Amino acid sequence: MIEPIEHAADILSKAKSAVALTGAGISVESGIPPFRGKGGLWEKIDPMKVAHIDAFLDDPETVWKLLIKDMKTVLDTARPNPGHIGLVDLERLGILKTVITQNVDGLHQMAGNSDVIEFHGNFAWQSCLDCNQSIKTSQVDLTQMPPRCSCGGILRPDCVFFGEMIPHDALIRSQRVSAACDAMLVIGTSALVQPAATMPLIAKDNGAVIIEINPEPTPLTSRISDLPLLGGAGSIMPRLLKAIRRRGPST
Ligand code: NAD
Ligand code: ZN
Repeated sequence: MIEPIEHAADILSKAKSAVALTGAGISVESGIPPFRGKGGLWEKIDPMKVAHIDAFLDDPETVWKLLIKDMKTVLDTARPNPGHIGLVDLERLGILKTVITQNVDGLHQMAGNSDVIEFHGNFAWQSCLDCNQSIKTSQVDLTQMPPRCSCGGILRPDCVFFGEMIPHDALIRSQRVSAACDAMLVIGTSALVQPAATMPLIAKDNGAVIIEINPEPTPLTSRISDLPLLGGAGSIMPRLLKAIRRRGPST
C-alpha cells in the first residue's frame, strides 16, 4: 500500500490551486500553546470566562491578566517553525495559493507566505475602545492593567473574541478560495471553531482533496479527510516537501 505521505505528495505535486487552513497546532512547535488539546490553555482557564467578548467588556482587567498579557509575552519572541516554512516552500513551488489561518500570531507572514487570510484578526495591533486609535501591541505599556490609550480608553487586541463576527472580507474570501481550490491542507486545527471549520466542507463539496495534518484525530478525520497524516506539522511538512521535490516539477 502506498504510504499516506507519498499519496499526499502525488496529489500536491499535481495541484495548481491548493489552499491551507491552519489552526493553533501549527504554531505549537514555535512555543505558542493551543487552546484545546494537550498543554492547551483550556486546561487552566475557562474559555467562556476569558476569551468571550462579554467577559472582556465586563472585566477587561481580568482578561488582560489571564490571557492577553501572557499571549503578548509569548508572541513577542515566537518565530516560524518547519511547519510554517513548508507552506512557504509549497507556495514557491507554485502549488499553494492562499493560507487561511485562525491564528493571530503573524507567523505565516513572518515565514514569507504572500497571501494570508487572517480569519480571526491579528494580535500585532490594539484598538482603543473609546477613540478607536490603533497602537502596535509591541508598544503597549503593560505596567498598568488594563493597558490604556493616550485618551484614557481601554485597549483591546484586534483579534476576534468568541461572540464576535468574523471580519467580512476574510469570511467572503475564505469561502471563495475554499470553493475554488483543488486540494486543501488542514493543519493543526481541532475543527471545532465555527465558521472556520466549514472551509474544509466547502472545499470537499467542490471536489478538492482534503489532506489533514494533526497528531490527534478531529471531527474531520473520519468524515471528510481523504488523507489524514498523523503527526506534528513541524515533522510532517518537511517530509511532505521532500517527497514532492523528489517528484520534480509537474507538467
Ligand atoms: P485548537 O487550540 O482548538 O486546537 C489545536 C489543534 O492542534 C488540536 O487539534 C491539536 O491536536 C493540534 N496540534 C497540537 N500540536 C500540533 C502540532 N505540533 N502540529 C499540528 N497540529 C497540532 O486550535 P484552533 O482549531 O486553531 O482553534 C482555537 C482558536 O484559538 C483559533 O480560533 C485561534 O484563533 C485561537 N488561538 C490562536 C493561537 C495562535 O495564534 N497561535 C493560539 C491559541 C489559540
Ligand atoms: Zn483612545
